[in-house]
Amino acid sequence: MSAKIYYDSDADLGLLKDKTIVFLGFGNQGAAQAQNLRDTGIPNESIIIANRPDSYAEDARSKGFTVEHDFGKAAEVADVLFILIPDQTQPRVFNEQVAPRLKPTAAVVIASGYNVFFKLLNFQETQDVVMVAPRMIGSSVRSLYVKGKGFPCFVSAEQDGTGQALQIAVALSRAIGATRAGAISSSAKEETMMDLFAEQALWPNIIMLFREAFSVLKEAGCSDEALCYEMWMSKEPAEIFERAAEDGFVEQLKHHSTVSQFGQLSGALALDGTPTREHFKNILYNQVLSGKFCKEFSQIEEDLEKEGDANPLNVLYKKSGDMELAQAEKRVRARLAGLL
Ligand code: NDP
Repeated sequence: MSAKIYYDSDADLGLLKDKTIVFLGFGNQGAAQAQNLRDTGIPNESIIIANRPDSYAEDARSKGFTVEHDFGKAAEVADVLFILIPDQTQPRVFNEQVAPRLKPTAAVVIASGYNVFFKLLNFQETQDVVMVAPRMIGSSVRSLYVKGKGFPCFVSAEQDGTGQALQIAVALSRAIGATRAGAISSSAKEETMMDLFAEQALWPNIIMLFREAFSVLKEAGCSDEALCYEMWMSKEPAEIFERAAEDGFVEQLKHHSTVSQFGQLSGALALDGTPTREHFKNILYNQVLSGKFCKEFSQIEEDLEKEGDANPLNVLYKKSGDMELAQAEKRVRARLAGLL
């Protein structure tokens, strides 16, 4: 199954003419996307940054943008509204302060599928809901744009209230610079599924593999310093992933020694992936797609702003800090302070 790719030539920037574009949030993505959009030629007077009065608002003002602190007022004039505040705060802020005052024909833009896929945001049926989701951190969205380059981005129309939702999504993708390299047709479901799967299945296993590998090698007599450098502090794994992105997931192996290539390929082919596949399927269907995780996360969402042990994320950090690997790294960083 291949995805449609949208390029600059597929986008009609004329669709954005005379539209008032509001960015709710001027953080990682908000700052980058608003500046890119303006540099593409959307007039500054058509752009409003909606942000509480703080350093983010100051940053927007210092970059020449008009800032509105009252989200309801900003919503009233928005033809296009980018929701670029953290995912866990979106339902509360959007449903209470923005949605009741948003025009019935407004286009709402999300950069992550989570709240739309799990139906946590209240839209009117007549509104467009589109996804323009860069696959890069905000600073890269900006720096690549400035260099004249594109960046990977997912685009979709989730609700077509006006009959033009997809065209607007593609025009906005072009305005922020995403169609230069090709924006990939996707959906809130696909984006959410892949994101949560990576976060809840793939990366926990990778963390577990590193944790266990560290302990086995430590028990066999390896030093903390040697292990930390061998396993991640040398940045070798980062380089491997960089090569995988450039040359190919398997092809990058050709940069390694023959002994390494032989060990990696024969070792990987000999492993039985069946138990892992079953574990992955369980996470995907019973935890992610079933909405179980979303429901559980919604229940702790407000606790994530608390201090100390009342914040469940702090508790997880504390427990993870007790891992042998983390303790050893702490010692190494203290001993090598100044060299790092
Ligand atoms: P940030 O954490 O950078 O957002 C910060 C902005 O949100 C600030 O303007 C901040 O203003 C505002 N904000 C935070 N909490 C509140 C609140 N309770 N009420 C009102 N405003 C609030 O977000 P990101 O840019 O990282 O993420 C935005 C969206 O982009 C998300 O949907 C995310 O999934 C998606 N995305 C993020 C990527 C990334 O690189 N981080 C990559 C791709 C997509 P204030 O100072 O007032 O709190």
